[in-house]
Amino acid sequence: MGMPRTFIALFLGTLLSACTPGGGSEKPAEVRKGTIEDLNRCAHKPNEGSDALMTLVGKSQIVDSGFFGKKMNLPDLAAVLDASAESTIRYAKAIGLNVFKTPYKEGERICPTFASIDYAPERLQAIWTEASGGDTSGGTLLGLYFDYPCLPNAKVPAGGKRCSNSKVAEPVVLVTEATDKWTLVHEMMHHNFKKTTKESGEAKSDNTLLAELTKAADAVEKAKADYTALENRQDLETLILNLKLAISLALEAVSRGKLEETAIEGLLIDLWTSDQLHHVVTTGSSVWYMGVGADAAVQQIPDIKPYTDFIRAEIEEHFWNEYTPQVNEIDAMPVAFKANIQQAIKTAGEKLKERGIAIPQERGAERRMMTSATQAPPSQAAGEAHMKNHENPALENAKKRLVRVLTAPVKH
Ligand SMILES: [Zn+2]
Repeated sequence: MGMPRTFIALFLGTLLSACTPGGGSEKPAEVRKGTIEDLNRCAHKPNEGSDALMTLVGKSQIVDSGFFGKKMNLPDLAAVLDASAESTIRYAKAIGLNVFKTPYKEGERICPTFASIDYAPERLQAIWTEASGGDTSGGTLLGLYFDYPCLPNAKVPAGGKRCSNSKVAEPVVLVTEATDKWTLVHEMMHHNFKKTTKESGEAKSDNTLLAELTKAADAVEKAKADYTALENRQDLETLILNLKLAISLALEAVSRGKLEETAIEGLLIDLWTSDQLHHVVTTGSSVWYMGVGADAAVQQIPDIKPYTDFIRAEIEEHFWNEYTPQVNEIDAMPVAFKANIQQAIKTAGEKLKERGIAIPQERGAERRMMTSATQAPPSQAAGEAHMKNHENPALENAKKRLVRVLTAPVKH
């Protein structure tokens, strides 16, 4: 799990010349700034740290994140690991992210980590308010990432960018002004993963996965119908092969949705505990949040037991024992997938505990712990809203359909 300590040193030598920073901005909303900037509230001053590696803007080196097979663009993460919060903001803008803050509680004294960025314009603030479950006190939702035109119901202005299947059109990062660099890097990682699958050509695009999912679901249904019509070895074998493909694609799709939260927090914990990520506030709520994402993801894994039970019964009836190992393999796939997730969470928790950071086990404890910390945990609702925004609705539908097909009662 995770990446080797030396990965940063390994890749830096392979990247060459500088690129011109770009990035968009928009007229900020009229937001009265109700908080009080107080450097004494800073665990890390906004300018604490080095400059982000601006020469990496536009560079591409796709690597395995070490989590659930997800691929990422290494330069965009490496560039900000040792950077100050201020410099990380500059890098985020330079790679085209529209970074805005949302107002925290009136009268609160906060570290001016995000003093250099504007408040979100009205249309984006409205999305934040909705995602935070109508909670405008600012205490729960920490950050949001979305590709604006790809949001359901996004009202793209005349002449504005349209949602594209192959490009990230208008990537937006929103952070509460009371959070810190950790949250900003977390949101940048959502962008990193999205851009990698959409634009790098080195990871399977959502559309390709969608097509494969649909095809696999069709093939399972057909094989099942063929076998039911006439019990024969060839159709059972086809059914087994397609079922195996379908479950593997379903697991791949699950790792693109809610499990992304688990991957990002696991990755950041890895980098922080291996002394590569600096100038961030690290809390046990990261591990708690890994669990939230994991629980949601595990619920999406189809229960294929009725299917494999059916196949086992057929194998027994017809003495086709040579297929048993393949069925065992199919049954083991979701089990291994879940075990991998659990292991990632366990490892992250152990790494933080070694650094003396307590992991909240239940919501109540979480809240009590967080009232005295600078970083508040997302509420369950806010967390879910946050994750919802990362999901590709078409992919979600294809996934749901596949799950329906795979878990449909099998009649014999
Ligand atoms: Zn997230």
